[in-house]
Amino acid sequence: MTLPLASVSKEQLNIVEIFSSVQGETSFTGLPTVFVRLAACNLRCSWCDTSYSFGRGVPHPIDEILETVRNSGCRHVCITGGEPLLQKNVHILMSLICNEKLTVSLETGGSLPINEVDSRVIVILDIKCPDSKMSDRNYWPNLEIIRPQDEVKFVVNGYQDYLYAKDICEKHGLFTRKIPVLLSPVFGVLDPKELIEWMLRDKLPVRLNMQVHKFIWSPTTRGV
Ligand code: SF4
Repeated sequence: MTLPLASVSKEQLNIVEIFSSVQGETSFTGLPTVFVRLAACNLRCSWCDTSYSFGRGVPHPIDEILETVRNSGCRHVCITGGEPLLQKNVHILMSLICNEKLTVSLETGGSLPINEVDSRVIVILDIKCPDSKMSDRNYWPNLEIIRPQDEVKFVVNGYQDYLYAKDICEKHGLFTRKIPVLLSPVFGVLDPKELIEWMLRDKLPVRLNMQVHKFIWSPTTRGV
């Protein structure tokens, strides 16, 4: 969906929080970013670190959200959740922010189609591994339309998850299609050194994704 430049919207979105920080993950790590966290999620990953987003949130007019994003002064905007794609109006918000010439990334859990996302948005697509207990919810057609400017993220709890991620990447041709792949060890569970050993042993063209905000602040601190 692409909206005309002058569009405004009186529609609403249910929001958990909006805050500025540095991006802690993905290839945007370290960049000043304003985060818009949408309420509700249709999944329940075993290692979820944002269960506070499962509730209804607070309705916010999209125009107000846009104004808050503008006032943050950040050039990068991360739309996250919960599962942002559960709220159809998120497409209006993302297109309006893109119209402002800001870089927008969308973090989605991977169970819902991404085909309606504005082509200017960078999709950070989770593929759920078995230890999350949600791998049967992966919506596989997303991997056919994911682009090299997007990123595919696997949260890896242990060796079984690592092998699963590797297999999915190979089966769907992610490496040959030059799709950036992130492997993210579950914080406090999988020693990143182990994951690095496996990545190097198998010569995988992937990026270690370390959630640096959990090293800068306490792992449970919100709004950072
Ligand atoms: S998709 Fe994200 S917010 Fe939803 S349960 Fe999984 S980790 Fe938590």
